[in-house]
Amino acid sequence: MNHKMKPVNPKFTQPDDHAVRKSLEPVVCYPTDALPKAPLAEYEKVRADADRTAAHLVAPRDASCFEVPQGHFFRITSVDGPQVGDLNLWNKTNLDERFYAGKTRALHGTHLGVGDSLWSSFPAMRQMATITEDTLDWYGFDEFGLSVHDVIGTRCDPYTHNLLSNGGQYHYCCHSNLTRALAAETGMPLLEAESYVHDVLNVFMCTGFCRHTGAYLMKGTPARPGDYLEFYAHMDLLGGLSACPGGDCATMHSSDQAECSPLLVEVFKPKQPLPEAVTKPLGSNYNRQHIADSDKN
Ligand SMILES: [Zn+2]
Repeated sequence: MNHKMKPVNPKFTQPDDHAVRKSLEPVVCYPTDALPKAPLAEYEKVRADADRTAAHLVAPRDASCFEVPQGHFFRITSVDGPQVGDLNLWNKTNLDERFYAGKTRALHGTHLGVGDSLWSSFPAMRQMATITEDTLDWYGFDEFGLSVHDVIGTRCDPYTHNLLSNGGQYHYCCHSNLTRALAAETGMPLLEAESYVHDVLNVFMCTGFCRHTGAYLMKGTPARPGDYLEFYAHMDLLGGLSACPGGDCATMHSSDQAECSPLLVEVFKPKQPLPEAVTKPLGSNYNRQHIADSDKN
């Protein structure tokens, strides 16, 4: 590993009771025990008898938008080679409600798997989609602490690339691809579309944090052609998927050097819709009194 240990030279002497202070057992920040478990058996039942209603091939180093009606499933498949995808989700009828990767991470951890949901931004904060199938579920966490499908990496973007590459100018980062795809889909100006692009679910990407330094690490995705990640849509969704210019993201991104492959998005409509008790997204019912209080002052 080529990243440095830190702190290299602490300025301050550790206190006498440092061992006691550091040995406290951690607890889960956001216990999700209160949330009902995803009804995976019910999803599986209706998914078994579903018709494919749409398919979109996302070109390498490019992005596409796609619609998924509420109650349908959508699948992202690696079709040609190891390839990472950057996923954005919007409420189709209100683009201000969008996938909130940070809070999803707080609830489900750094990497998502079957039964985990993708939650939307405040104030709705509700389930947009739930992962129902993952052919990489065998991967778990490897010896380096890395895993697949993270909600930690934000998305590759030309601003960070410029900052870290002595002024490099690259125009096909996932951030840029998603911006162009959303503008083309909605007809909004590119400048406006850019403001709707948000932190992603890194589909198939293999990532983690170094236990010693906290550095964000990646390695080549274990996904191979035929591998897929499938979701149930809790609301009418507009999705955006970028086939990352990093390809398998083994060594680099934000350039044309990596070998890249397309990604396939398919939408499936169950013949038998799920009952409303199952389909209704879980969401926050906070009454927003905090705003009412501040308005009085
Ligand atoms: Zn990317």
